[in-house]
Amino acid sequence: MSASEASAQRLAELVAACRHGVAFSGAGISTESGIPDFRSPGGVWTRFRNVLFDEFLASAEARHEYWRQKAEGMREFGSAAPNEGHRALAAWQRRGLIRRVITQNIDGLHQAAGSDGVLELHGTVLEVSCLDCGWRGDSKPLSARFLETGAVPPCPACEAGRLKHATISFGQNLDPDVIDAAVEEARRCDLFLVLGSSLVVEPAASLPRIARSRGATLIIINRDPTPLDRVAGLVIRESIGATLAAAEALLTRS
Ligand SMILES: [Zn+2]
Repeated sequence: MSASEASAQRLAELVAACRHGVAFSGAGISTESGIPDFRSPGGVWTRFRNVLFDEFLASAEARHEYWRQKAEGMREFGSAAPNEGHRALAAWQRRGLIRRVITQNIDGLHQAAGSDGVLELHGTVLEVSCLDCGWRGDSKPLSARFLETGAVPPCPACEAGRLKHATISFGQNLDPDVIDAAVEEARRCDLFLVLGSSLVVEPAASLPRIARSRGATLIIINRDPTPLDRVAGLVIRESIGATLAAAEALLTRS
């Protein structure tokens, strides 16, 4: 048995044995679907400057720059599809092995794979909301309109409001209800499965610590070492999709 087969075997055993599994995903699961990690050095996002939330609120020029970045991102990566890692998690949720997916990603790929009730810590790029009247809707037609006209579209409901993709911007607070629900899952779970997160930014750094402090088994599948590897029950430095697919094959074979 190779090292990666042994890892998949151990992962399958731990997933099969848990009563309340929670998966926590970061950029690493989506890079396997071709979506670049905006934090990695030399990555595609380094040609963009970060538009801070305060600037977005205050300046029409900053809102235009924000829309240009989001619309170009949607054009380049809007057709990305879930990979076998996303699909394995959705299958495990349907069979009651994983209760909840918590993600740092804004790409909606877990939902596209069939996961329900995903807790999106950083929001979603697939929707736009009006900061002034609360209208919310599909971002795709509005991003397409921006690319056509070069102008930030007006709010379809109140016409004057500031429309923004429903992601959490730099300098913008996370949604406290989403954070509370994620912390509750971390407290209740007996298995906490980290997929493609370096666990250095909050709340990513805290959630596995909370789970671990309540006695959950921690599994970390990530390309690079993380600060929590030493307290994890299992650390795997392989492809997330291939590892989860191999574990799923073992689980459905028996
Ligand atoms: Zn509005």
